Amino acid sequence: MVRRDSDHQQLALLADLAVPIEGQPPPRSRIYCNRNLRLDQIDMVGFDMDYTLALYKQAEMDRLSIEATAKKLVAKGYPDTLLSMTYRTNFPIRGLLVDKRLGNVLKTDRYRYVKKAFHGTRELTSDERRQAYQLKRVRPDPRRYHSIDSLFALSEVTVFCAVVDALDTPLSQVDYGQLFDDVRTCIDEAHRDGSLKEIITSDLARYVEHDPDLAPTLHKLRSAGKRLFLLTNSEPYYTDAVMGFLLQGGLPEYPSWKSYFDIIITSASKPGFFMRNDLSFEEVQSNGQLQPQRVKELQRGRIYRGGCLAEFEKLSGEPGDSVLYVGDHIYGDVLRAKKESAWRTLMIIQELTDELTAMEKLTTEIARVDKLERRLTALQDGLRERQTMLKALQKVLDEPGAHSERTVERQAARLRLRRGIDRIRVQIKAVEGEHAELEASVERAFHPFWGSALKAASELSSFGEQVERYACLYTDRVTNLMQYTAGHYFRGPRHRMAHE
Ligand code: IMP
Ligand code: MG
Repeated sequence: MVRRDSDHQQLALLADLAVPIEGQPPPRSRIYCNRNLRLDQIDMVGFDMDYTLALYKQAEMDRLSIEATAKKLVAKGYPDTLLSMTYRTNFPIRGLLVDKRLGNVLKTDRYRYVKKAFHGTRELTSDERRQAYQLKRVRPDPRRYHSIDSLFALSEVTVFCAVVDALDTPLSQVDYGQLFDDVRTCIDEAHRDGSLKEIITSDLARYVEHDPDLAPTLHKLRSAGKRLFLLTNSEPYYTDAVMGFLLQGGLPEYPSWKSYFDIIITSASKPGFFMRNDLSFEEVQSNGQLQPQRVKELQRGRIYRGGCLAEFEKLSGEPGDSVLYVGDHIYGDVLRAKKESAWRTLMIIQELTDELTAMEKLTTEIARVDKLERRLTALQDGLRERQTMLKALQKVLDEPGAHSERTVERQAARLRLRRGIDRIRVQIKAVEGEHAELEASVERAFHPFWGSALKAASELSSFGEQVERYACLYTDRVTNLMQYTAGHYFRGPRHRMAHE
């Protein structure tokens, strides 16, 4: 039978509509859900740009920002050797805290207890860690602690730790707070004065990944009737260059990158955007100048800057809970959006790719760690039980005039208990040894210095806890949205309490 073209089209259409009933995309293309979200109830999808739509080539970005920062530090009077030093760009991860008082970098668990600490690139022993943090929760005091919230900030840690290593000698007295503030100021300047952006825009392909699936992903959302918007802290000229690069050669229906979006907001100053309610938008003209008239309408094809959430909600007419905002910055995009608005959030966590790879490779080891933990709990319970029995028995034996015909029997029981206790102690030591070794090797497989970014041993890390608390959904790249229909119902895991 000869099929006509229209049959083919019909079949293609049906194939498109045929959503796998129970199938899930493979783990690395999946969107993970913390809180139920129905895409059919989302009318508007907003995107952050940097590290969300634009994924940077991290090694190149690190090199660039370290070079720019080192130059600025030397201009401030730091030694010239900073220009020729080797920097360990694989050292930091997201979610770390810089302790500006002691010059340490910390990884904390969900309760803010310090689980790992480095001074420069030397790991603190558990005694040193205990002494410095006294087993107390770290209070999030920004005068003392600085949180590493985005991948842009990784190079701050790299430079800070390298300079601590270089300057910390037994005779020196380094003011770590001043040093970190200097590093921060230099990186901040490099972002603002064009030192980084001039170089990036002159060779975008070197610094930014070009994902051919991005244009079809945005198109798929638009075709399902969703309005799209861009909300970035980047300046209009930089946004124009990067977005042009990302969507170039995309789909013929879209003459410019701007046609993919209904509203484009640049220089948004998030997190302030979510927290202020008194800032109006300004329109950026094609010559880069600002339109003097007050913006009363956000029009398609135009570029705006500034503004705030209240003004956005008023002008877009979109109720908060039908907006999904996609961003990478745990504080500026996800936490603030969640706390200050009814927007739903999808967080882009590029690290997820490596975390999933490590998890896949280590399934057996992770299962063994869990088993050893259960065994350890059972052994410790057994030990405590025998110790209590021994104490009670000893008390009876010690009673004045306790000697009776059962004394010999009791003494034998005491001996059995003591031997049992000794045996359990030996077993505990062996299990603890295997557990520590295995857990350390699992951690190293996630990251040579810090282990998993999202977990701290069997607990969530504080970063993992923030992801779980504030991101309704998370995934490693925007184009994973392609894997789902526009009406997909994302279901979060059923929460179970310990007794369930
Ligand atoms: P977004 O992620 O699209 O909202 O944009 C992030 C913007 O913030 C980029 O233009 C970065 O260059 C800029 N940025 C990142 N870190 C810093 C900083 O420390 N100081 C000033 N700007 C920064
Ligand atoms: Mg971003």
